[in-house]
Amino acid sequence: MTILKNPPKTKHKMIQQIFAQAESDLKLALKGKQIPKGEGIFGESREFIVFELAKALNQNAESLETAQQVNDRLMLMFRDAKEDFSVEGMIQAMTLCLHGFVFGNYSEEDFRFLYRYSLRYIRKQAPIEKWLRKAVVYLVAVNNESAKDILAEVRYWIQFLGAPLFMPSMFSEVGNELGIDIQAEIDGEEFRLVDAITRHPQYLKEAVQDMTFLESFEGLKEWGPDAIQLQLLKVKKKNVYERAQDKIDSGMSVNDSVKVMKKVFEKEKFRTNKQTVLPIRLQELSSPPPGEAVDPVIFELIPQKLRMDLLPSVAYSTKTKKIEIIFLGGPRIGRSGIIIKTDTGGILLDFGMSVANHRIPEWVPELEMIDTVLISHSHLDHVGGLPILFEEFSGKWCSVGPTGGVTKILLDDALKIGTPFPPRKHDKHDLISRFNESNVQKVTKNHVRLEYGKSNEVGPGIVVTPIDACHIPGSAAYLIDIEGVKILYTGDFNMDKSALFPGANLPTDADYVIFDGTYWAREDFDRSKVREQFSKTIADHGPVIIPSFAVGRSQEILIMLDEIGITKNRNVMVTGMAERVTKMVGVTGSWQSMKKNRIHLEESDVLVAGGGMMSGGLARHHFNEQRNNPKAAVMPCGYMAPRTPGWNLLHGYEPHECTVEYARLSAHSSATNLETYIKSCKGKRIMVHTPYFAQAKGIMIPKYKERIVIPT
Ligand SMILES: [Zn+2]
Repeated sequence: MTILKNPPKTKHKMIQQIFAQAESDLKLALKGKQIPKGEGIFGESREFIVFELAKALNQNAESLETAQQVNDRLMLMFRDAKEDFSVEGMIQAMTLCLHGFVFGNYSEEDFRFLYRYSLRYIRKQAPIEKWLRKAVVYLVAVNNESAKDILAEVRYWIQFLGAPLFMPSMFSEVGNELGIDIQAEIDGEEFRLVDAITRHPQYLKEAVQDMTFLESFEGLKEWGPDAIQLQLLKVKKKNVYERAQDKIDSGMSVNDSVKVMKKVFEKEKFRTNKQTVLPIRLQELSSPPPGEAVDPVIFELIPQKLRMDLLPSVAYSTKTKKIEIIFLGGPRIGRSGIIIKTDTGGILLDFGMSVANHRIPEWVPELEMIDTVLISHSHLDHVGGLPILFEEFSGKWCSVGPTGGVTKILLDDALKIGTPFPPRKHDKHDLISRFNESNVQKVTKNHVRLEYGKSNEVGPGIVVTPIDACHIPGSAAYLIDIEGVKILYTGDFNMDKSALFPGANLPTDADYVIFDGTYWAREDFDRSKVREQFSKTIADHGPVIIPSFAVGRSQEILIMLDEIGITKNRNVMVTGMAERVTKMVGVTGSWQSMKKNRIHLEESDVLVAGGGMMSGGLARHHFNEQRNNPKAAVMPCGYMAPRTPGWNLLHGYEPHECTVEYARLSAHSSATNLETYIKSCKGKRIMVHTPYFAQAKGIMIPKYKERIVIPT
């Protein structure tokens, strides 16, 4: 462990005192003296903060017995091995972890893990929420002084943790306890609207009646819950469309009607930014002008299942003058979502849900004005948000190959494991609460299947050609052509040769390429090494458990095992969701399904089981059965999120006697191939879906909600 300059410097007077007391308490403890009885800021024993300070300074803190006991419990929680829970016990462990985090003993991922863990095991969340509000303000106040900065950071933390979006006013009491005047900030101009509306959402209409859409949107966009912003849009949209309708007579041409509407939109500030007004959709007027006949060539380009939905918007569309790319969730890995907006509508590329905090892409009004959704592939971080979108959206979503069917399996599985966790599940102001069974059914009903290499008009003037992305079965990159401007969205893609694919072959001549940068500037993968690892480890051990993601990874491993001859002399089995997906995508070989009545693994068995990070399912069950069997081996492969059982196993936190062999695999392009391809691209390069934070020469890495405007 590195020696940190601890405790960290802070300008916050009360926190300075807390740190100073912890230091003097530690001195006493190191001399073998008793720490005076008393409580810390969260009502915890004074030992807690001293224990974590000692740890950060590499000092022995064994004499601090109360803290040591809580620490033991915390370690069990990190391994998901704790069996009895109480709210008080949970809060104690979280408080210890918070102090440790402030002193650098834990990462933000650890802190998040623990909060999410409490959501899984503690039903009574109210006391935890109360603790969390204070914890987050305390954490943020170490490095921030003004109430304004503190509130902005608090909001970041709420989102990162996936906690409910508490009303700003709920932080004022905590502020008082910590000597920060949060209430004064909330009383200020910027918070006036959001404070009024979150208190009395039923009076939204009255509260914004003298404001333009832009003014009210600005007032709500930081702290206003998404569902309330959506409500605001509906109220203002109704007004602006009524006003426009008054100025349009039945004989007006489409072009003239658009001009009239644009004037109304501009006057009413029906816009979300300075540059462009919101899409003008004549088809949404109560009595729209007569539409224009659809060109037979264009008609042929519209997929049959999309024709009924799309024809009115095609008939009312005019040549778009401006394209806008809006990055809702794509910049980082976890909740992909990008809008390509035109003057009259647009398309949405992916709409994912982050498994780490159950967040979906950011909400912007343009999201309610799209024509179609294009899904690159069936991984939850690219499709998981669809049920939420489909609460209001009645259009279609398109994908290639088995993506439609696999998406259904994924969404059903997410529902089965209780996604999203309460309390957000029941919070009507949180859009994630719309992740429910009836919306999953709506998603299933509204799917359109496209084919690789075949061009389609999926929105007015938006022609799209899917290309095999070789990431998982059915994965597609999309080449999008709008008025001659070519945009390539790669989705997750793999240029490397793998057991499943020859490697993607994507065009290099697009004007803009928005690409998956998962392994940008990182180490390459060596699949021949992985084959050797499988051969050797499986030859020397039995049974062997290979935990792997159900979609893509499981199929690649099964084929590898087939190719290196393991299915011939060992009993290779696949089970659970991995098996269902393998059947659905049509990957076949000489492995078997695991019989329903098989409970235990035998020496000759090699089991490929879903749950790549071993967080649940049969991989975990059989690992627990075999962990103390020295003849057995477990072979995790691919990415492990911090503190998941797979991560714990690889980092030495999980006691075991079986062999653990990590096989490094990925379904994304390795760094060298990625760089070579990107260098060969001629247009503007935009990297999304990446953990990379530094500047990359000639490459744009957008921020959340950032927009690029392209004139046509
Ligand atoms: Zn993926």
